[in-house]
Amino acid sequence: MATFQTHLWCYLWDLVDEGIDGVLDRLQGEAGITGISVATNYHRVDQLRSHASNGPRRFISAGGSQFQPQGACYASTRMRPVVAQWLRKTNPLAAVAEACTKRGLTLRAWHVCCHGSAMVERYPAGGVKDVFGAVSPAWLCPSNLDVRECLRGMVEDLGTHYGFEAIELERASFPTDLHAHHHEKEGFACGPAGDWLRGLCFCESCRQLATREGVDVAEAAKVATRYLEGVLASGEPLATEPDELLDREPALAAYANWRRKQVTSLIKLIRTTCPCRLIVHRSGPPLWGATDFAELAATCDALLAPCYVNDPQRLATAVRAATADTGDVTRVEVGLSACTPPCSDAAELVAMMRSAVEQGIRSANIYNYGLLPLTRLEWIRQACRYASREAR
Ligand SMILES: [Zn+2]
Repeated sequence: MATFQTHLWCYLWDLVDEGIDGVLDRLQGEAGITGISVATNYHRVDQLRSHASNGPRRFISAGGSQFQPQGACYASTRMRPVVAQWLRKTNPLAAVAEACTKRGLTLRAWHVCCHGSAMVERYPAGGVKDVFGAVSPAWLCPSNLDVRECLRGMVEDLGTHYGFEAIELERASFPTDLHAHHHEKEGFACGPAGDWLRGLCFCESCRQLATREGVDVAEAAKVATRYLEGVLASGEPLATEPDELLDREPALAAYANWRRKQVTSLIKLIRTTCPCRLIVHRSGPPLWGATDFAELAATCDALLAPCYVNDPQRLATAVRAATADTGDVTRVEVGLSACTPPCSDAAELVAMMRSAVEQGIRSANIYNYGLLPLTRLEWIRQACRYASREAR
């Protein structure tokens, strides 16, 4: 195996519309990557495409699973993955896996877990529900037992049938922000703590399970409602940070703590039947996502820290934080972007790669084939060449 691994994040629809073999030949020959990481479950997307292909210039999809699920993996859940409409009855992921094997490229799955509207639309009972009772159009609740089993089943299905070297989990968590793929209409600011309270899930699953485990959910909901009603009545934001709010509201602190255990146990559940390496993206504010990355690091094989600002210092900070979680830099990977913003030339991408290599990183993902003009494969080639030369 090469001393430095570089995976390019890809969308399956770009590989299919441009031709799987042609794209992989080009990526291996011109960009010098060692593998690809293909989105296997994805949210709604509206993408402007610069490459020549058999598909539309603007690719619009409501999202969903990018493979045909095999029933046996979902025997313990009332949910089934909602297959992305553009796939119809086809399953090109199998051909991608075969084409990667033939070329000695490693294949990874990039699995967006709880963020996505296709599943919530089909299964609204599995959606995150705010304290006012509104179901999120874009997030599944990670404490819901059907959601958890469906995610476990998808990872088992993918790991068993496509020969992935690793499966990357992104957003296997509670909502990491209020973003929902449509025009949010808000004429005032709720402030950092106010937004966090709005993002909290109080669905039936959360209420029942937390109550069973001795957490006073009703009190947490009452406190959250009181603060939010105060913001609505006054129009003044709740200007404190969420962690300051937790210092003075024990019911909310207990609920936040319970939420973290839900996310940790979800990753443990997924791990039980994942036949390949499992990597967790270290993204999103931990208090929002309820992600205790040190706990998650104990369950998965590596944390992947994305850094989508072109600042080597920021990358260094992200790597240090992830290394503190894993206890070992060999279990930390980074995600860089060749898109603009943040990246505006080859030198910037190489500088980010240099920073990663200098900190002991030996695996980087780069974002994202279908979003990049083909001229940028040269930027990626320079970054890969630097890494493979300098990494020891
Ligand atoms: Zn919930």
